[in-house]
Amino acid sequence: MSGPSRFATRTRRGFLGAGLAAAGVTALRAVPTAALDRRDVPGWDGEADVIVVGSGAGGISAAIEARRAGAEVLVLELFHIAGGSSSLSGGVCYMGGGTPLQKALGFTDTPEDMYRYLIEAGGPYAPADKIELYCEQSLDHYAWLVGTGVEYAPVYSDEKELAHQAASLYHSGSERNHPYRERVRPAPRGHVPPAVNMMGGSSLMTTLLAAADRLGVVLRTRVSCERLVTETDGSIAGVAVREKGTRRHLRARRGVVLAAGGFIHNPEMLKRPAPELYPCSGHWGRAGDLGMGIRMGMGVGANVLRMHHGFAVLPLYPPENVLKGVAVNRLAQRCIAEDSYYGAIGHEFLYNQGGRGWLIVDAGCDYPGPDARVVVAAHADDLATLGRALGLAPGALETTIDFYNRHAREGRDPLLGKSPAFLAPLERAPFKAYDLGVEKAFYAVHTFGGLETTLEGEVVNAWGEIIPGLYAAGRTSAGIPAAPYHASGLSIGDSTFFGRRAGAAVARRS
Ligand SMILES: Cc1cc2nc3c(=O)[nH]c(=O)nc-3n(C[C@H](O)[C@H](O)[C@H](O)COP(=O)(O)OP(=O)(O)OC[C@H]3O[C@@H](n4cnc5c(N)ncnc54)[C@H](O)[C@@H]3O)c2cc1C
Repeated sequence: MSGPSRFATRTRRGFLGAGLAAAGVTALRAVPTAALDRRDVPGWDGEADVIVVGSGAGGISAAIEARRAGAEVLVLELFHIAGGSSSLSGGVCYMGGGTPLQKALGFTDTPEDMYRYLIEAGGPYAPADKIELYCEQSLDHYAWLVGTGVEYAPVYSDEKELAHQAASLYHSGSERNHPYRERVRPAPRGHVPPAVNMMGGSSLMTTLLAAADRLGVVLRTRVSCERLVTETDGSIAGVAVREKGTRRHLRARRGVVLAAGGFIHNPEMLKRPAPELYPCSGHWGRAGDLGMGIRMGMGVGANVLRMHHGFAVLPLYPPENVLKGVAVNRLAQRCIAEDSYYGAIGHEFLYNQGGRGWLIVDAGCDYPGPDARVVVAAHADDLATLGRALGLAPGALETTIDFYNRHAREGRDPLLGKSPAFLAPLERAPFKAYDLGVEKAFYAVHTFGGLETTLEGEVVNAWGEIIPGLYAAGRTSAGIPAAPYHASGLSIGDSTFFGRRAGAAVARRS
């Protein structure tokens, strides 16, 4: 990938720095996260059975379950408002196996089909044990969300990977794309509270936070958790925090759940394990995504997994009509079916094509007007001129489009299996190339890597041993979301599901 220019680097860092400073957290990037020995703690300033770091989907789900199991729970949140990135999100939760909503809307699904899709699409990094449990217990998870007050409307949306307004169920991944549609019966599994402009996360988090509050979970905001406190045997005794400018030490009688999100807003941390994500224009998430939870875990010897993985959305649609165009790499070759899930397209260009490529359209499938997501790299009345303007090898673009057109006229895509609905020959001038380069197009990205955890959310060290009293959930942990990401709703689904398990497990500790 071509690296960011000095100017672009400075601009982004300046922008991020300003955003974080406005949130009052600039200094956090430098705070030490190494463990603090209990013997160096002058005294406890407060205590609870369970301390949860972070108030997003992972943390609040853990808090609810720990409280229901009888534990006294304290949630600590860096910002003045609770909810984290989860409350900014679409609120889509990937569930299936025949949920009441799927059934009510006439869709057939089984836990086996759901598992097969997630394993097939997930690639070599898909954590099979977590996916298996997640699919087996998906109906229970649906019941849990509905039981806490989350509402789903019995409305299905057929729009491509986007549920709109009144709808609560849609195909949120590549289920209907080649090769998955031939291998596993496709089912819509994106469950989302109805909301305008894909803002279901606000409704989801309002509901979960209210449920936690009703149960008696205590939430303290504007508390920056900085270090874990360990006993001499390595087990977790509590956390060192900064609150109103003062260092305090809080004891966790049963354990600590780290649920402080990912690290997309920590440029120094991002650049090392995940340099592909660094130059992207849309670093997605609330400003608390500084990697503090991950570093606190690493500070007590926790292992990390998949730190280079991220969600990379390249949202070319809507309008779906542009998907009749052809996406090519810097060799003028097609490398992914254009109707693939937008996370798969983003992943392909960002990770596999060096962050470079173009979407070639003709007059029949162009955007209706200028679009903020993409910029025109070149336009011409014929493909040879367009190819030259892009600096492609002479004849390369024409060969690709000629092969594509020949089969598109027959409604086929023998190379990549694009659905017939998006096949049309590109033959009407003017032809345009939209720049899919990482520094030009809108790539929305966040991180997937985090602390290694067991199925119960226990954090594991580099030797595969459980660190007693330490749990993690959401994007602080390495959960089900792995690259390539193949369905919206897996991050919230993983955060809530494994957050619940972590909360239940920590509450069981004596
Ligand atoms: C615009 C957008 C749309 C998205 N849509 C979807 C979707 O529809 N479905 C889906 O599955 N995923 C979606 N995602 C991704 C998803 O929202 C996140 O991956 C997920 O919500 C992470 O949950 P979490 O609990 O790990 O972290 P968060 O929800 O970010 O919560 C972490 C909390 O910890 C706090 N914190 C951080 N450090 C500290 C500290 N040191 N001390 C105390 N508190 C701390 C943070 O301030 C934050 O409030 C979307 C993301 C964005 C940005």
